[in-house]
Amino acid sequence: MTEESTTVVILGGTGDLALRKLVPALFTLACKGHLPQGLRVVAFARRDYSDDRYREYMWNGAREIGGLAARRDEWEMFAGNMYYVSGDIDDPHSFDRLKHRLDGLDKGEDGTSNRLYYLSVAPRLFETAVKNIAAAGLANEDNGWRRAVIEKPFGHDLESAQKLNRAVQEVFDEHQVYRIDHYLGKETVQNLLVFRFANAIFEPIWNRNYIDNVQITVAESVSVGDRGGYYDQSGVVRDMVQNHLLQLLTLVAMEPPNVADSESLRNKKVEVMQAIRRPDRGELLRSAVRGQYEGYLGEDGVGEDSMTPTYAAMRLFVDNWRWRDVPFYLRTGKAMADKVSEIVIQFQKPPHSLFQRGPTVDMSSNVLGICLQPDEGVHMKFQVKVPGQGMEMETMDMAFHYDSGFQEESIPEAYERLLQDALAGDASLFIRKDHIEEAWKIVDPLLEAWSDERSTADAPLHAYRPGSWGPTAADDLLSRDGRTWQHVCGSHEANGA
Ligand code: NAD
Repeated sequence: MTEESTTVVILGGTGDLALRKLVPALFTLACKGHLPQGLRVVAFARRDYSDDRYREYMWNGAREIGGLAARRDEWEMFAGNMYYVSGDIDDPHSFDRLKHRLDGLDKGEDGTSNRLYYLSVAPRLFETAVKNIAAAGLANEDNGWRRAVIEKPFGHDLESAQKLNRAVQEVFDEHQVYRIDHYLGKETVQNLLVFRFANAIFEPIWNRNYIDNVQITVAESVSVGDRGGYYDQSGVVRDMVQNHLLQLLTLVAMEPPNVADSESLRNKKVEVMQAIRRPDRGELLRSAVRGQYEGYLGEDGVGEDSMTPTYAAMRLFVDNWRWRDVPFYLRTGKAMADKVSEIVIQFQKPPHSLFQRGPTVDMSSNVLGICLQPDEGVHMKFQVKVPGQGMEMETMDMAFHYDSGFQEESIPEAYERLLQDALAGDASLFIRKDHIEEAWKIVDPLLEAWSDERSTADAPLHAYRPGSWGPTAADDLLSRDGRTWQHVCGSHEANGA
């Protein structure tokens, strides 16, 4: 581990993300001894706080999170290295003050002083923040590295993402930029790479010759809550599909890289994005379903006649040798029956059936479930003979669970891993410029088609009941192909909606 002097500067240090995720993650890393010695945290935000007032604010707000409450002594030590600078992102002078403070904190130490700028402010402020960092001379790497972590969403369409990329690259080289999708920091998501590329038995069947279809579900049981204003401008495709679901798809579909360094991994992921089929408008509308939960229009901050979807399901194809014509079904929504994120790989049926099916056999193909949350683990469904005479079969489940497999270990928070990686200069789990732009190229045509009023007849906005599995039109999307949605992980009892 490096002993160089290092500071994490959280722009937006009093916000929800800093309070619930970033500071608890840094504190947990500090307790585990996973941070550079003497790492400082400097929060920058508008409130007129002193260092002590900020430390108290964090303690009061975050003590129930990340085990802070039980670790008051460790917290005191950690908080002693936490500082606060009051300022406005729009005001260049505030950044002069920030620089003055940072330089002052470094005073007395010779040698390097590394800085990680974490942009935890509203996305409309990203560009200004980066410009003002540069204008104050805070991006110079004269005495140590400078890196910028940029939160999501990165742009709201291709054009805005490209503009932001250009602005960022006027200040930072690509190797200094860490665009975040916290899904990639999840242990179970990283396990996808290990599962695929450290087990020789799966790779030979991981292709169109053996796999019938892939299903990716990220369901949230919560409604938009107090985020209605933001959500209504964004909608489910920008909020979930463009980033999390497409990330999961790339990890399932990517070719094995030769080595696990960040560029090799990210090259393979971008190749998947480039291979995703771009259908014409008619096919695009037929391959996607949008829904809005009943009661959404009454949520705070939501327009009274809003057409913003809170649910989306779609079928995509990856046109390459491995995946040609294998459908990838994606679905995600708010106010759904359960909070669950899972990837289901449905293998092809045996070519010839010899045996009688028992009452619980709901499918004769093998199904692999990669459970991202909750119930973190892997399930494999296969047929077994029911004891007794005859050859009746039942579907049984072979399962691995993180909680029983690693009883001593707790699953770290995604932000712990991501912050640690950014501090170590490992960008593998961060999104590269070209990836983010490719992702927008995939979803932009759908967003455009849905925003066109002519599409209402072809692609209606389906109402769905909160607590359901979304509109039945999403079931029809699969049943037209002779398939159904599969649940493999958790306590689900039924398939489909
Ligand atoms: P927030 O509104 O709770 O906090 C924003 C922070 O920025 C506050 O500290 C506020 O004081 C500061 N701020 C706002 N305007 C400022 C200005 N002009 N000058 C200086 N400081 C200013 O937002 P949040 O929920 O913490 O989100 C931060 C970022 O993280 C956003 O980009 C968001 O999209 C992203 N994000 C948040 C979450 C989450 O769970 N909260 C999840 C994913 C992504």
